[in-house]
Amino acid sequence: MQRTTKIVATLGPASSDPAVLTQLVVAGVDVVRINFSHGTVADHQNRVETLREAMRKAGRTVGIMADLQGPKIRVGKFADGKVHLNAGQAFVLDATCKIGDNSRVGLDYPELVDDVVASDVLLLDDGRIVMDIERIEGREIHCVVRHGGDLSNNKGINRQGGGLSAPALTPKDIEDIKTAAALTVDYVAVSFPKSGADMRLARELLCAAGSQALLVAKIERVEAVANLEDILLATDGVMVARGDLAVEVGDAAVPALQKRIIRVSRQMNKFVITATQMMESMISSPVPTRAEVSDVANAVLDGTDAVMLSAETAAGEYPVQTVEAMVRICIEAEKSAEFSLDSHFLNRVFTRIDQSIAMAALFTAYHLKVKAIAALTESGSTALWMSRLNCGVPIYALTTDIRTRFKVSIFKGVYPLMMSYNGHDRDQLLLEAEDELIRAGAVEIGDLIVLTCGEPIGQSGGTNTLKIVKVGEHRPTHQAS
Ligand code: PGA
Ligand code: MN
Repeated sequence: MQRTTKIVATLGPASSDPAVLTQLVVAGVDVVRINFSHGTVADHQNRVETLREAMRKAGRTVGIMADLQGPKIRVGKFADGKVHLNAGQAFVLDATCKIGDNSRVGLDYPELVDDVVASDVLLLDDGRIVMDIERIEGREIHCVVRHGGDLSNNKGINRQGGGLSAPALTPKDIEDIKTAAALTVDYVAVSFPKSGADMRLARELLCAAGSQALLVAKIERVEAVANLEDILLATDGVMVARGDLAVEVGDAAVPALQKRIIRVSRQMNKFVITATQMMESMISSPVPTRAEVSDVANAVLDGTDAVMLSAETAAGEYPVQTVEAMVRICIEAEKSAEFSLDSHFLNRVFTRIDQSIAMAALFTAYHLKVKAIAALTESGSTALWMSRLNCGVPIYALTTDIRTRFKVSIFKGVYPLMMSYNGHDRDQLLLEAEDELIRAGAVEIGDLIVLTCGEPIGQSGGTNTLKIVKVGEHRPTHQAS
């Protein structure tokens, strides 16, 4: 049984070694995430090169995602690297403070003082430390610590309830977009977008840099939840970025939001990644907790395209075991997923020819219980449409476009295959498609498949043809076995 849910793994010191990275790819990583919050351009370049080598060794397709840092608001540095804060003590956030101590620390975003008022609640280090704002004095934010703990250099700050004015793309992000384009990454994730306009700006910058990467909007602000549909219209995919999201909306609101974001994304033909703390305990333990197993399985059952690992593979002690455990959990959870073309699908109106063909292919594949769907696609959009519904049939995206091969690797239940034929003869093209499917072990002579393509062949244009093929039927010389 083939896994349909894709795995995104964040790269970091724990996955820099080429041998470890190859093991991660062999274990089942489908997309790697390069976190632009850490590292230099040379580091990113090295990671991309090591990954491409690992991919060749493992013989698997792995997409690359550049994750922009965004306007993460952070405290400055401390004289001793960290301090211990006690509940009840006073603490000042002061943008002019150069080096922090037990009573105050600097801020990398001086405008924070204009965005908050007395009685606001600030959450530091993903909510591990909580402070109530007592008063604003000039450019200083005076707080009282509610939940204390260790606070170390450059930890993040969120305001409970959101409402910070920082723009989604910082000058660093704008530079990093150029780096991502130069590295020909397949996806670019935008951190903390508030609206569709943020995504459109990112798209413009990316296009100007010559990149056709797919955009991912990280849903991690209160405003992004309010503007979800606006953001979805402007993006290719989203990430349920539970780390910051939980801090902004309250952790208890996240599970229901996750389900809604996944459902709406799929309805609007977007892909969706569920992220953060999925296997957190495996940073330092070779086995996951029961709660983590349930969390990953529930994300699969919610219909997520991909589940993501952060520190588990970037800085954990058991990166390979974590991916192996995730694979195991996904495959098991998928066994109980319901394969049905829900009635919702029948009630929708499809006006595009290519999308209608994609839907017709699903309908046919589902009812005829075919072995595979073969989507001959240049842009990958046919495969995306097909994968928005669960028909229980694997979707092979056959393409001659190398960029499409990587892009589709994040879509649930879609498997990329490369084609080399670029002539005009339909029969030749279909024979090559069959050959590729057989070579990939997807089908055997005699299997029924549903195939979609655009005609006339060799002319770029939308998919307009649906064909039901018995593999090998056009090859009288082959013996059905
Ligand atoms: P981050 O984003 O890991 O870049 O913060 C994901 C999240 O907030 O969950
Ligand atoms: Mn985040």
